[in-house]
Amino acid sequence: MRYVLVILLFLLVSCQSNEVTSKTIDMYNADGDMVGTAELLEQPDGVQVKIKLEGLEPGFHGAHVHEFPKCDAPDFESAGNHFDPEGNEHGLMHPEGAHLGDLPNVEADDGGLVDAELMLAGATLTDGKNSILTGEGTSLIITDGQDDGVSQPGGDSGARIICGEIKSGDQGESTESPTDPTELNEEQEE
Ligand SMILES: [Zn+2]
Repeated sequence: MRYVLVILLFLLVSCQSNEVTSKTIDMYNADGDMVGTAELLEQPDGVQVKIKLEGLEPGFHGAHVHEFPKCDAPDFESAGNHFDPEGNEHGLMHPEGAHLGDLPNVEADDGGLVDAELMLAGATLTDGKNSILTGEGTSLIITDGQDDGVSQPGGDSGARIICGEIKSGDQGESTESPTDPTELNEEQEE
């Protein structure tokens, strides 16, 4: 009987782990150098984005998810516009905003380091039109200037300086459900 229970538990865990729950992407500057990573974590109300970067100008920089998983240096225009499946206006402070891909600004310290935890509200890593892994995927771009939150079409945030491709079916995906009960509890407290 005990063995049957173990097998049932195993099946249950297997069934729950069919969808992507996290993904880590590499971030590159216009010279093609890897300058950091972004960790994407599925949450009940969106996708948490943990960004770690180096070599930026100190101060605030815009951060946006763009519509194509294509980071062609040096201008990264290949990534297209901000990811916007709802057809909204740009800007987290715009009354008719925001694009789904609009994130708060990140701040680089005096040493040019960014260590930020942001929330991409309403987005998901799983299925549906709000999935940032929809189709071939999307990308995450950091801009030279800061996003003012209202200007069209991109918050007047300047040149695209760092880009990372968020590709579907790529390496760096984790589909494992947490099995440690303390991990589960920590997630629920957030
Ligand atoms: Zn936008």
